[in-house]
Amino acid sequence: MKAANASGRSLKDVLAALEPELSEMVIGRPTDSPLQESFDAKRVMHSGVGGFPLPRGEWQSHWQAALTNPGTGAGRSAYIHIPFCQRKCSYCGFFQNFCQEELETAYIDRLIAELKMSADKPYQSSNPMNAIFLGGGTPSALSPANISRLLKAIHDYLPLTNDCEVTLEGRVHDLIPAKMEAWFADGVNRVSLGVQSFNTKVRQAAGRIDSREVVMERLRALAAYNQVAVIVDLIYGLPYQTPEVWREDLNALKALPLDGWDLYQLNLWENSDMKKAIDAGRIPPAATTQEQAGMFGAARNRLDGWPVNQISVCHWGKTGRERNLYNHMSQKGCVMLPFGAGAGGRLDDALIMLERDIKQYMGRMDRDEKPIMMMLSLHPLTDIHDAVKHQIKQGYLDIAGLAAQFDPRLTELNALLAIWEERGLVARQPEIARLTTAGQFWYVNLTQSVLECINAMLQGEWSWEKQKVAAQG
Ligand code: SF4
Repeated sequence: MKAANASGRSLKDVLAALEPELSEMVIGRPTDSPLQESFDAKRVMHSGVGGFPLPRGEWQSHWQAALTNPGTGAGRSAYIHIPFCQRKCSYCGFFQNFCQEELETAYIDRLIAELKMSADKPYQSSNPMNAIFLGGGTPSALSPANISRLLKAIHDYLPLTNDCEVTLEGRVHDLIPAKMEAWFADGVNRVSLGVQSFNTKVRQAAGRIDSREVVMERLRALAAYNQVAVIVDLIYGLPYQTPEVWREDLNALKALPLDGWDLYQLNLWENSDMKKAIDAGRIPPAATTQEQAGMFGAARNRLDGWPVNQISVCHWGKTGRERNLYNHMSQKGCVMLPFGAGAGGRLDDALIMLERDIKQYMGRMDRDEKPIMMMLSLHPLTDIHDAVKHQIKQGYLDIAGLAAQFDPRLTELNALLAIWEERGLVARQPEIARLTTAGQFWYVNLTQSVLECINAMLQGEWSWEKQKVAAQG
């Protein structure tokens, strides 16, 4: 049996003694409207309690050492980054480069070289990949010739499982036969499209090109090939996206031949073109966090009445074709090999980020060097953190299971769940606690609080993180 809680104080006592402001941030406030009012805002962008930066001088040797052994094979994926976009979306907070034909071809040359560089090393060759994710940026922006070269290289240099999920992210504007047929010919089996809204005015204010009619027509054309799972992302809280427009957006999900969708909350970045346009009065304000909560609640109510499967707190599957495997694996903390400028990944014992600047990335590839920009060793409690993050993303928390698997002191988390149950954020069942609609909307805050409590209970240090996540009220 382990010693008592490492902080020397029970979680229940610590939570009861929090100053009112801190208490509202960590456990939320008591209210009759938990969906809208439990918290003021998302308190972190992505929940987590980080790792520890490794000294720059060790990055290459750490990577090279990792490559020499097969590592764990319990589910593997690769993330491949395409840092180009045709146009900049007005809400974007992570734009890299506009498309340029010559630069694109030069970049794909280096990306293929990067895949090849470690292809014969045990870490890359011994365990098959269950999922490949081509993200961006806009991978669909690549020319048919370049995407074909890249997909062939993926098959040549990465071992893939027979049922490997190969996702390509993109824009509806790129759904033209020459491109789609290139994707199908070389093994893409899932296409994930950032639609954001079907409403033409909302789309235009967000910097998207095509009208509602074109979007609907192109999605139908993609689905008609019957070659890939068709997934769309919608964002709620955009300027001009009234409750009626949001209802129409949801109705379009039902009407179209889709396999699944994500519903994301708008994060209005301080330096985004959208924020500048709002501040200058050129477009109406984005929804407040409270209004976003109402939109999420409306979506949950609507989708609960449809024969669809909620796969996570923000993802739904409409047909059996959608597996959402890559996202599941990354939430679970599986090994993810990164390739490309700005790609992030995970080794058995470290997090890794690659050079974001395309010129720097290409220069370092030309020197035959994995273009590592940052490496962090994993937190000692990473396995527990991953299990918690994965469970909450799936909409539940199994404290007894976590305590049995990792540490009996975790049962103290029941003190937190009891408060959240009273406040309408979770509903406790005999064996697990399920997130209510309010709990699902606030899942990032709930996750962060659970992780911080775990660190305190098992390592003895209480610390609470607060970031300025987005500019909406
Ligand atoms: S497609 Fe993505 S990366 Fe490109 S501008 Fe739009 S939001 Fe930014």
